[in-house]
Amino acid sequence: CGIVGYVGPGSSLDVLIGGLKRLEYRGYDSAGVAVLPDDGGIGARKRAGKLGVLVDDLAESPIADGHTGIGHTRWATHGGPTDVNAHPHFGDGGRLALIHNGIIENFAELKAELTAAGESFESETDTEIAALLVGRAFRETGDLTEAMRQTVHRLEGAFTLLVLHQDAPGVVVGARRSSPLVIGLGEGENFLGSDVAAFVEHTKRAMEIGQDQIVTIRPDSVEVIDFAGTPVEAKEFEVAWDA
Ligand code: GLU
Repeated sequence: CGIVGYVGPGSSLDVLIGGLKRLEYRGYDSAGVAVLPDDGGIGARKRAGKLGVLVDDLAESPIADGHTGIGHTRWATHGGPTDVNAHPHFGDGGRLALIHNGIIENFAELKAELTAAGESFESETDTEIAALLVGRAFRETGDLTEAMRQTVHRLEGAFTLLVLHQDAPGVVVGARRSSPLVIGLGEGENFLGSDVAAFVEHTKRAMEIGQDQIVTIRPDSVEVIDFAGTPVEAKEFEVAWDA
């Protein structure tokens, strides 16, 4: 339901939790985060319930913070509001984390295909198939943007997806079809959000992402392509908001 992504020198967890708080007005039943700590690997925590449940859990047993992260508040459509069904979902043997807004209509068919290919599922969501598909494509291509590009061609329905991979530090890749996603432009840091509320605390410079486009953010670059892989010139705008 709410989506935040961050790459930059700051604390990912602070940016993600702050962004999710500002997105709370949209309503949700679960919340989760994934970050890439500087010493490698991937850290994630997800909990059913209000954001406060996740925040308390992180305070009690912290995960290592980092400079690349994604955060999500979920409004369950497929699978009940449980810790396991909360996002992020994982692929490539737990080395990749993915969050999703929307519904993947053909998930049952893709789930059958992935099960036949030897993948196993932890959750009842439509989302987990996307995590596994990006993970498999990343293993083949070694390129997270290309892995996302190959995956979106398999998906029917409406989605905003954000993904990070422990072998791609400093990179968050997003994709959207019939579901919102905007870029926040910072100085040496960049943001993604399901709406500008996710990052307005940090920057008022934003960029639109069109239908069927993919964005790759790094601390000092933002690249947008369409689903065919052709570069797109994204339009910058100023957020009118008194934060
Ligand atoms: N369909 C996904 C799920 O049920 C995403 C829901 C959302 O947009 O939050 O987990």
